Amino acid sequence: MSRIGYIILVIDGNHISRQLIERILKTHHYQVMTAATALEGIDLARNNPPDLVITDVDLPDMDGRELATTLRGDPRFAETPIIAIMNYEDPVQRSMALAAGVSGFLDKPVDLRALPNQLEFFISGGAIEKDSTHMMNAARARFLQEVVKRLETRNREIREQNVALERLNQMKDTFIQLTAHELRTPLSLLIGYTDLIHDHPEETKAVQRDDSLRTLLDGLQTSVQRIQNIVEEVITTSEIMTDTVHIRVSETAMGIVASNVIRMYQDALQKRRLKVHFSPAGWGVLNVDDHLMHRVLANLLSNAMKYTPDGGDIFLSYQTHDAHAYIIVRDTGIGINPEHHQRVFDRFYTTGDIDRHTTSKTAFLGGGLGLGLAICKGIVEAHGGKIWTESVGEDHHNLPGSQFIIMLPLQ
Ligand code: ADP
Repeated sequence: MSRIGYIILVIDGNHISRQLIERILKTHHYQVMTAATALEGIDLARNNPPDLVITDVDLPDMDGRELATTLRGDPRFAETPIIAIMNYEDPVQRSMALAAGVSGFLDKPVDLRALPNQLEFFISGGAIEKDSTHMMNAARARFLQEVVKRLETRNREIREQNVALERLNQMKDTFIQLTAHELRTPLSLLIGYTDLIHDHPEETKAVQRDDSLRTLLDGLQTSVQRIQNIVEEVITTSEIMTDTVHIRVSETAMGIVASNVIRMYQDALQKRRLKVHFSPAGWGVLNVDDHLMHRVLANLLSNAMKYTPDGGDIFLSYQTHDAHAYIIVRDTGIGINPEHHQRVFDRFYTTGDIDRHTTSKTAFLGGGLGLGLAICKGIVEAHGGKIWTESVGEDHHNLPGSQFIIMLPLQ
């Protein structure tokens, strides 16, 4: 006998036994879904409710009886036959399985020849006789105790795993920190040497004779500079993460900081025909670390440049309101989907919209590691401020644009 179109879910961690059951059921025209773990099986059942579930009791992630209890919690599976593969001679184990929601049993190993008839029995409403109420209540209490005990063990395991992960994470941070520090010295030597070559009178003569030499030297300097930026980004990030960032606060004219940052990117801005709308008039004096604030604005401006097409506009403005200063960097670029607004400030988080960038990241000496905004956030928060991003709305280039807002206390 067979039931065409009947869906049977087979959950068994042993792939040979799973495949054998699947094959025999298919030859009897059942539709079969298979899963190797309880969680996989639960997901399959929820997406496509089966007419009958066969589950091994010993599953890698959950006990088959717990799986039955989970499924019974969903009204769609209130009547679905759930057949456990287990040896049920032990009456206590058997009662506990019934109390958990199992409707019948198949002996382990499954007798493949008898299987179709056994299933037919369950499908046509046949069920194992229930135990007496008294036995069922006792079994239910025992099952509950077992589940709670397993939960406790699991919680302890998770806690231990968390401690181990935390330790690993710390080791990784220390490793990155040490590596970055170790790179600092040879790098500054490298920068020193390239500067020496650059300023050497012989080099000036040689460059006059050979133009390609200048290109090579400029390339060398740019690449070394880029490595230095990455190393500095990594070091600052780990200082921020470990709360060891040194802040030297002094009265700082923010308009001057902003002008310096813009000047630093003048060449790239010109090359990309990006117009920066900025006037130092009206920018106030704040008690901040000028170097760190320079880094924040440099990161925001270089991002605005990276993610705005050639010929676009970038606006830098300053306002005060309610004892706070607001510095706003707005661009007319590709924008950030609101669902990423919080996460762009996470370490190593990038939105992956690179195909929409007008220029490769490398052209701007940016780290490109997804650390820039995490650093900005760390620095701003260390000053008692806040930083966030908002959508701007469509501009005349039909791009959403981004704006980053820094809020700093005036006192
Ligand atoms: P990255 O070095 O990758 O630029 P950031 O931490 O500075 O790292 O930025 C994280 C991500 O946020 C970027 O990869 C980019 O996807 C997005 N982003 C930052 N600034 C802008 C902006 N002005 N316009 C659009 N996307 C931006």
